[in-house]
Amino acid sequence: MFIAKEIQTAAYLFASILFILSLSGLSSQESAKRGVLYGIVGMIVAIFATVMGKGVEGHVFIIAAIAVASVIGILVARKVEMTAMPQLVAILHSFVGLAAVLVGIGSYLDPATQALTGAEHTIHLVEVFVGIFIGAITFTGSIVAWGKLDGKVPSKPWSFAGLQMMNLILVIASTVLGVMFCMAEGTSGLLYLGIMTAIASFVGVVLVMAIGGGDMPVVVSMLNSYSGWAAAAAGFMLSNDLLIVTGALVGSSGAILSMHMCHAMNRSFFSVIFASASLGPKGEKKAIEGEVTALNHEEVANLLKEAKSVVIVPGYGMAVAKAQYPIHELVQTLRSAGKNVRFAIHPVAGRLPGHMNVLLAEANVPYDIVLEMDEINDDMPDTDVVMVIGANDVVNPSAQDDPASSIYGMPVIEAWKAEKVIIMKRSMSAGYSGEDNPLFYKPNSEMLYGDAKASVEKILSFLK
Ligand code: NDP
Repeated sequence: MFIAKEIQTAAYLFASILFILSLSGLSSQESAKRGVLYGIVGMIVAIFATVMGKGVEGHVFIIAAIAVASVIGILVARKVEMTAMPQLVAILHSFVGLAAVLVGIGSYLDPATQALTGAEHTIHLVEVFVGIFIGAITFTGSIVAWGKLDGKVPSKPWSFAGLQMMNLILVIASTVLGVMFCMAEGTSGLLYLGIMTAIASFVGVVLVMAIGGGDMPVVVSMLNSYSGWAAAAAGFMLSNDLLIVTGALVGSSGAILSMHMCHAMNRSFFSVIFASASLGPKGEKKAIEGEVTALNHEEVANLLKEAKSVVIVPGYGMAVAKAQYPIHELVQTLRSAGKNVRFAIHPVAGRLPGHMNVLLAEANVPYDIVLEMDEINDDMPDTDVVMVIGANDVVNPSAQDDPASSIYGMPVIEAWKAEKVIIMKRSMSAGYSGEDNPLFYKPNSEMLYGDAKASVEKILSFLK
């Protein structure tokens, strides 16, 4: 049974509207759940309308494949920890890239497209070539990003003289191959397509390997964007309007997110795209001066009892420890004692855009005390106690004063300007960027070692 072309077009239009509503819903925490729901309904409509479209055969196989994939998807999504979400997102992007490559090869070999002539044929070949190029970069780039986020690939950036020149030569070589591919007769262009796929796969690896840990947020949002363009390219190859619209939505929203991330990290969009963001820092690293001192939980509780204003800076360690629930209890206790308690959120804290906001909302922390870095940095000199809970890179002063640091230039939360800084983490280890943190050695800083959740619970027990 098939549905008429008109019904399919109407269904595609409806799904496109739902996807747009979904994206706009995701722009605020209050409407995010509704946004996700729109996305799910839109996707069900889109799949149904495509599978039931004229000319689609083998429904049994398609439905079986969708059922198996849905079960795997549900199991993986239920099992994955919030802290491992970026890795999951990265690996899912790689699937989109691989799909675009396979669709491209299939579309090139399809006898129906081989029968095309003139400008129509050339346009189709360009679509295939560009689609496979973007798809292959997305595929390998996302796998390397997954490895870096999962700690399987070192976060230290690859950098060697001539890196950009090499990338440029590879892009020029791919363009030449593209021209030869378009001029090849029959399916003889497969050889050029294969060489270009190998080159694009290598470019994908190089682009992400050349980016340091601190710049990974931009890479993740950029690969999100690439996966959208890869899907749009597949839409052109398959003449599927919905795939084009959906791909363009993902591609452009990912590009906008990348620009926001670049702005938050004070990086140029193009320098990240062309893998030169991490090549900036030069010279000898500044020697860290000062001594590390530590307090116990009771001493921290006493400091909090005396403080009038407290700022909490959460980071990736808070997510790992799942400390947001006792932190909310701590905040309630301090606020009921008349203290001004607020959160300072860095745009790239954690491992996902908005990671900290999501976790604090999950623990029912009121939105009005959760402030962005720019809104609270000026208040730091008037703050009695800053509690840095599982954060590291986002409070690293070398981002401001050490040009040799890989995070130099990134705006950070100026915790050191407060009267007292308590840093809660398990050891003296470096942050995600691999950079040591001079904040730990400042005279007004005190370490409180241990798991963030256990530490907050212990402090609470002394406060009560
Ligand atoms: P960091 O990763 O710099 O530091 C987190 C700290 O948490 C570690 O130093 C670790 O120290 C500590 N920690 C880990 N587990 C625990 C625990 N159970 N209890 C207490 N402490 C713990 O985190 P930040 O949030 O400061 O910075 C985020 C970094 O991630 C930035 O470099 C950013 O660029 C990058 N990034 C961000 C993404 C995003 O979209 N937000 C995406 C990809 C990367 P110890 O081991 O000593 O406990």
